[in-house]
Amino acid sequence: MAGLAPQGSQFDGGQYDAFTSYDNVYESFDDMGLQENLLRGIYAYGFEKPSAIQQRGIVPFCKGFDVIQQAQSGTGKTATFCSGILQQLDYSLVECQALVLAPTRELAQQIEKVMRALGDYLAVKVHACVGGTSVREDQRILQSGVHVVVGTPGRVFDMLKRNSLRPDNIKKFVLDEADEMLSRGFKDQIYDIFQLLPSKIQVGVFSATMPPEALEMTSKFMDKPVRILVKRDELTLEGIKQFYVNVEKEEWKLDTLCDLYETLAITQSVIFVNTRRKVDWLTDKMRSCDHTVSATHGDMDQNTRDIIMREFRSGSSRVLITTDLLARGIDVQQVSLVINYDLPTQPENYLHRIVVVVGLAVRVLQLIL
Ligand code: ADP
Repeated sequence: MAGLAPQGSQFDGGQYDAFTSYDNVYESFDDMGLQENLLRGIYAYGFEKPSAIQQRGIVPFCKGFDVIQQAQSGTGKTATFCSGILQQLDYSLVECQALVLAPTRELAQQIEKVMRALGDYLAVKVHACVGGTSVREDQRILQSGVHVVVGTPGRVFDMLKRNSLRPDNIKKFVLDEADEMLSRGFKDQIYDIFQLLPSKIQVGVFSATMPPEALEMTSKFMDKPVRILVKRDELTLEGIKQFYVNVEKEEWKLDTLCDLYETLAITQSVIFVNTRRKVDWLTDKMRSCDHTVSATHGDMDQNTRDIIMREFRSGSSRVLITTDLLARGIDVQQVSLVINYDLPTQPENYLHRIVVVVGLAVRVLQLIL
């Protein structure tokens, strides 16, 4: 599958006049010049040594450079931008100073938790501004004052338009899963939000993959960024066993999956299909064969999605059927098997599907035709 790994050279010949070079590597959090209470938060969270991206990425972001940081999922990008933000906030000013956008509600909420935990000793006020929750409650919290907002584009734009989220003091803008954010439906929303932010703003773009179109977009709103790229050969599926079953016909996939059910449910598995309708269809079919499965997709309301994810995390359901969109918010450590019932239509999503489970997915099985 090496051919599916993103190219490390996509930046060459790109749209930038220049990048800023920043090559320092900090082997320890102590060497980064971080404030005492942030360090306490980092160590209390259980981190001892910075990951490769953290060794290179935290300091330039703290220093105020625009950054593009590309590293495989599960390598610690979240803590990189959270630390960069937490280091720079003016805690005496309870106004939103940093805005982080993520493509899914689950992911935004996960980032909020990390930000809050790392910033515990700094008494940071963070709010997750996502769809599917009460607009009024969001307004109330924002009006009462926060330092950081982490959200999904729709709700954040709504809050900005209503002036419940005042942009005047926002100094840092982060796009997580930037490839996703700068493609498809999100692109225009991101642009609309960006228009409402102060013109002098530091931008950080974080992603596992960075297709040329996304990169081209970033050149429109970044200024001589520091780029930190993992080498192409580091973006591998090392340690992950990949299998396929050639089922030949679409109709035979279901029987194959049912035959495999006992194996799937031994630990926990995530099954990917390509559309929401197919999530519903496959869920019905599996249940009609008396198999216990959970399913989640973007058409479900937030409450239902939360309940389903809680069930799955607790292990009371062991097989989860979902789509790519939801993949990025799933962080379930026990998952050891990913099944591609449908192969992903976008090659980048092959990696995303697997690393949803933070490196613990040890097997991937494709049902191919
Ligand atoms: P990414 O944003 O690149 O997908 P995350 O920031 O979500 O990755 O990190 C993946 C996992 O690794 C999380 O469970 C996180 O708590 C853990 N992690 C991140 N940085 C460190 C570190 N320096 N030491 C130990 N664990 C870490």
